[in-house]
Amino acid sequence: MSKKVRKETIAVEGVWPVGSYVYKAPLLYQELLEGFKQKKIIGSLCTGCGFVYVPMRNICGRCWRKIDARVTVSDKGTVRSFTLSQAVKRGQVKVLGMDPVEMGWLKEGERLIMVLVNFDGTNSKYTTILLNAKPEEAHIGMRVQAVWKEKPEGKLSDIIGVEPIK
Ligand SMILES: [Zn+2]
Repeated sequence: MSKKVRKETIAVEGVWPVGSYVYKAPLLYQELLEGFKQKKIIGSLCTGCGFVYVPMRNICGRCWRKIDARVTVSDKGTVRSFTLSQAVKRGQVKVLGMDPVEMGWLKEGERLIMVLVNFDGTNSKYTTILLNAKPEEAHIGMRVQAVWKEKPEGKLSDIIGVEPIK
């Protein structure tokens, strides 16, 4: 129905201060973050159906079994979906609690590329940002690798984002 009304995608000006939300991470994230300290991505493996989740889950969403098994997965993966922001201004957006312009990940006026990545060996999607790529280069199926903080501290921000594999 909406495609009949509007054939083209429209852009709507607006501010969405996602950085102002505070999430309480599940206890399970402690294991994920312990792995991050060693630049490792640990997933939970459902021994019932073989699905691997990153971030981990306690219960399998497919077969409802309790999940106890762990596997280390690759930090390389494939972009399954992406979203482009409007041009970013300093102080306007926060990613993992940080201002991407202040951190030097983006220049003022560039657009943030949010991606859902399926790390190799997983069946789930991890939300992060695409770095070192132009918006027009982003595509579904793009091969990427994690960009790790030089000295990981056991925080979600240890993976700053992903970048294209060249
Ligand atoms: Zn399962």
